[in-house]
Amino acid sequence: IEEAEKFRIEYWELEEAKLRRMPKPKPLATRVALVTGAGSGIGKAIAHRLAAEGACVLVADVDAANAAAVAEELGGPDKAVAVTVDVTDEQQIAAAFRTAALAFGGVDLVVNNAGISISKPLLETSAQDWDRQHAIMARGSFLVSREAARVMTEQGLGGDIVYIASKNAVFAGPNNIAYSATKADQAHQVRLLAAELGAHAIRVNGVNPDGVVRGSGIFAGGWGAQRAATYGIEEDKLGEFYAQRTLLKREVLPEHVANAVFALTGGELTHTTGLHVPVDAGVAAAFLR
Ligand code: NAD
Repeated sequence: IEEAEKFRIEYWELEEAKLRRMPKPKPLATRVALVTGAGSGIGKAIAHRLAAEGACVLVADVDAANAAAVAEELGGPDKAVAVTVDVTDEQQIAAAFRTAALAFGGVDLVVNNAGISISKPLLETSAQDWDRQHAIMARGSFLVSREAARVMTEQGLGGDIVYIASKNAVFAGPNNIAYSATKADQAHQVRLLAAELGAHAIRVNGVNPDGVVRGSGIFAGGWGAQRAATYGIEEDKLGEFYAQRTLLKREVLPEHVANAVFALTGGELTHTTGLHVPVDAGVAAAFLR
């Protein structure tokens, strides 16, 4: 009976200790982050920033070679591990979280960044386009978040889930109905998960970038040409065009998005959840063409 009582007291002390710790995020130097789509562009910049702040990073991407290269840049196996993950595949997602547990003892920061952009006018958007876009960004981020929630609630120490959504989650632009609809879906996932996971001290927030042309694979992969045609400009002028339409008259780069992820998860915004931070140099704040 004494043993059982001792165990009970130890258990509740542990639970209380967990609760006391819960609202305060751990410093990034003690954290393990899993970043999807970290082989390129914004995800790569986020992985670099979190690693520079001391976090261990799971570099998750469907592109194995890019993921491996980024993991190497971050300092190799003690600091970063590459995992080949297609976010449409539940088993690959579960395996990535298992790898994190084996390599670094768990995961307490997940960034839903992986994405593609099927950017077409309504009448050219096929059912297959719609399904593929949604499979990767709406369903894929849901699957990653669900696994993150499972792992983080089991660990019992809270955590962060961040969605790299978009200005397009809120504002309508021409010729990208499938892409923008998935971003709106992600934005509501942020609010829904914030509501459901708050009691576990898991914060869920979003970052809404806009116009990250340089360094973005999405822009290089056809989106840029399509956007340039929509605005009637040369593709190589797109960065400057986006910069000039911002309030700050400045180009948004992948590292600016990474700064926002750090701001949300770095330890100061302890009581912020369900929020979307724009990283668009002011585009969403004003009516601009
Ligand atoms: P990017 O193409 O450079 O990066 C996307 C990454 O996701 C790539 O490494 C790609 O291999 C990976 N990916 C694609 N499908 C995947 C899958 N099924 N499973 C796992 N990984 C997959 O593009 P980016 O501009 O860096 O975009 C990153 C995120 O930022 C996307 O969600 C995008 O919608 C969002 N975003 C970008 C901008 C912008 O201006 N570039 C603006 C708003 C939002």
